[in-house]
Amino acid sequence: IEGVHFYIAGAAKSGVSAAKILKKHGANVFVTEENLISKNIENELILHQIPYEYGFHSIEKIKNNCDVLVISPGISLNKEIAIICKKNKIPIVSEIEVASWFIPEKCIILGITGTNGKSTTTHYAAQLFERAGYKAISCGNIGISMSQAVFENISINLLSVELSSYQLETTYSMRPTCTVFLNLQNDHLGRYENIQEYIKAKWRLVLLTHDSGIAIIDKDVMHLAVNMGLSLPRAKIILIESSSPKKFDDKLNTPIKARREYDIRNQISFGKILPSAIYHELKKLTINELMSENELEIAYAKYDNKDTSVNIFIKLKSSTKTWEIRNPCLPGEHNMINILCASLMAMHLGIDDNIILSQWESETTEYNHLPHRLEFISNTEKTYIDKNGDEKSLILINDSKATNVESTLVALKSLNRPIHLLLGGLPKGDNYLPIGTFFRKNLVQIYPFGKAAENIQLDLKSYKNKVADSSENMLAAADLALNKAKNGDIILLSPACSSFDEFRNFEHRGNVFREWTFSCLKENKK
Ligand code: ADP
Repeated sequence: IEGVHFYIAGAAKSGVSAAKILKKHGANVFVTEENLISKNIENELILHQIPYEYGFHSIEKIKNNCDVLVISPGISLNKEIAIICKKNKIPIVSEIEVASWFIPEKCIILGITGTNGKSTTTHYAAQLFERAGYKAISCGNIGISMSQAVFENISINLLSVELSSYQLETTYSMRPTCTVFLNLQNDHLGRYENIQEYIKAKWRLVLLTHDSGIAIIDKDVMHLAVNMGLSLPRAKIILIESSSPKKFDDKLNTPIKARREYDIRNQISFGKILPSAIYHELKKLTINELMSENELEIAYAKYDNKDTSVNIFIKLKSSTKTWEIRNPCLPGEHNMINILCASLMAMHLGIDDNIILSQWESETTEYNHLPHRLEFISNTEKTYIDKNGDEKSLILINDSKATNVESTLVALKSLNRPIHLLLGGLPKGDNYLPIGTFFRKNLVQIYPFGKAAENIQLDLKSYKNKVADSSENMLAAADLALNKAKNGDIILLSPACSSFDEFRNFEHRGNVFREWTFSCLKENKK
């Protein structure tokens, strides 16, 4: 590292922390940002005496001086700066790769990826390991960057890292002990040409798993990966049954060609050779059927919405466990999968069952929830006053992180009281019709708002009387919902859209909603 010239493309927080840690270890660093640099970032660069430029990348300087380019996850590998580096044989690495070089010895890494549920799983895992006595930190796409976590905390012994596909594209030497690939959905394709490219980028995490570790993989993701002919890790694989709805290209769902069967049998490391028949049937078979036939490492969470009890079934080579959890600290079947993944990692690392279970059932006050994800503003009903001065006893929930229809469906599935749903924002091209199926269940009324309101009205026109008039903004919709709600109902902000037509980001939207709920509380009105 000493004396090596690193150029860091992208002056976001992660880039700056990569620059800091590289400089600390004697590298020559230079930060280059195509856009403007925020005042905070600029101050930090000055404080740490890191040279920088902004408004452009000096391509010539990079060609002549740069030994390694550290690329921000926000910059595509198809951008000029990356293409030039590739042409000139200058290695390109992610900030995660840089952080990996400086991880304290004996520090365990957990790597979590997938389309949905990354933050929840990463955060939950860090808390679980803390309970078990580790000095654990969650980082990556959540909270602080991995470089920052490593830079600040010399004494950490566990990093729970949330990883996006963009970060994984240029990460090579990280060796997580446990990895999780939660699920895959089409609607997050971002800058990928097709879903295959997206899967390949995320699958890199599975391949990085330490040989003696475990890779926890969603059953359907595994199926797709095998169909695509991706190689398999030497680490032990545990399949999980995920609750998320799937929408893949038909092409990818076709059975695996016989040609591949032989390779797969030799590569797979389930402990025993895996009969190829499993792959043919993977999609159709339930986990239980799979189990009776084969010595698979599998785990399955069953969620009973009626009495909020959860059954967890885990069959590992050494043991079979069934846990029934009465009051899980996170609501919804999707969260059971998230918790299950974190628990499997803890089991692999020898954490006592009692600690794992006590974390599952930890009081909601004790478990420090991530905001904006099915965040109960209060756990019990509270009295709110509507615009007409009427009092009603309600539960209000902030799920502002739900920025697509899939996530909103997950939220609706997780709740079992009558729901008034605030839906809208900047549309992403989703069809809102699937949400209508919940009118037969727990959904009472939808309140469309923002730019998406027109599309929502169109897609749900067959449920006309259950869709309120469109509102210009979120709080106008919230007022309508509060007027209409009855004692015991839920008002849920789970907007299925991005927020940028009205807010800076989903956090801003959630915070505005939360403040509004406080302003309507009876106790605050007096
Ligand atoms: P990410 O960090 O991957 O965006 P979060 O943990 O922040 O994921 O959750 C975002 C939303 O995704 C949640 O509000 C929920 O609707 C949905 N979600 C969470 N976990 C899962 C899961 N395991 N499967 C499907 N959807 C999920």
